[in-house]
Amino acid sequence: MMKKPLLKFLTALPVLLFFTSVQAQPVYRFTVKVGIDSQSVDSLGGLDNVKRNLKQMFHEINKAFNYDRRFQAYYNFDVDWDALYVYEGSSRDEVGKPHPDHDYLVVMDGVRSHPDEGGGGWNGSYIQTIYHDRGTESQRFNNPFDRMATDGIIHEFGHSRGMPDIYAMTVDADKNPINGLGNPGIRCMMNYCYGETHWSDYAVNMINLSADKRVEIDSLVNSMCPELIRIAVKDSSYGKVKGADIRLYPVGWYSYTVNETPEIVSATNSKGVCTLDGRKVFPKSRSCGLKYPNYLVEAEYGNRKAYGWLPLYEVQNAKFEGKKAYELVLILKDEKPSTPKDFDVTKNFKRLKN
Ligand SMILES: [Zn+2]
Repeated sequence: MMKKPLLKFLTALPVLLFFTSVQAQPVYRFTVKVGIDSQSVDSLGGLDNVKRNLKQMFHEINKAFNYDRRFQAYYNFDVDWDALYVYEGSSRDEVGKPHPDHDYLVVMDGVRSHPDEGGGGWNGSYIQTIYHDRGTESQRFNNPFDRMATDGIIHEFGHSRGMPDIYAMTVDADKNPINGLGNPGIRCMMNYCYGETHWSDYAVNMINLSADKRVEIDSLVNSMCPELIRIAVKDSSYGKVKGADIRLYPVGWYSYTVNETPEIVSATNSKGVCTLDGRKVFPKSRSCGLKYPNYLVEAEYGNRKAYGWLPLYEVQNAKFEGKKAYELVLILKDEKPSTPKDFDVTKNFKRLKN
């Protein structure tokens, strides 16, 4: 007879623990109005199917913001089913329509039926609208609810919570005239989002910073500019290198290109360190918040060179961690290549035995 209540208690305990852990976090609810074009509704077999698909998609969107405990709140992007509407004509006319009763408007389109349609994505400022455009030039229907489309819209909701594009800070190897290396960025929903579920530390920091407020990506990016950038140059035995030349080659937003002219030229001091004013390295800009999202850094001493990057997704994390300076360490390699026999483990083993 004792078995039953004990069993009940044992099953209730994890449920209770789950709810206490969920309720320890604040809930951020954002209301969403959805409009969908009539041709997409027809292709999907009517409005009931659209609703079923939308429910599943928003389940996935909310899941993407809630599986990771680094987020400091429970996110609820909440579709207002009474406000769901079907429109005729160009999607472009829908983007920019005011939606005073809802935080966000999502305009969905699976068919390119008008010449001015296309170029979907997040529209910030006073617009606060995701243009979920799946149309292609072929006028064929592309399901706005498939897996790729869902990954895409999760990325757009990342923008709605203050995150810039990480891919906008990356570099293609063939567009780097200085050392020919590419910089693909880091794993993040805000870099290449298809098939991805991971949020980078920078994305988590920015989304937490935005909290439940309506935010402007540019002003957040600008507000997290670090005070100082410190570049230390060391030799292969980790000794300081004084008087090394430092050159910072800028990378423009969405350019994927290293500019061949350095923006900043300096040198390391007697301690082997070059300290730069963060505001000079990353000047304020009306578009995107800061003028550059990344630099290729070159250190040169004698005939040796070393390279590093200053992407905002690394640099701004220092400010999130409360540090005054972002520090980059560049190591100049030996001129002579190392000899393989120096790494002969048996040689060291024999020496140890003696
Ligand atoms: Zn984006």
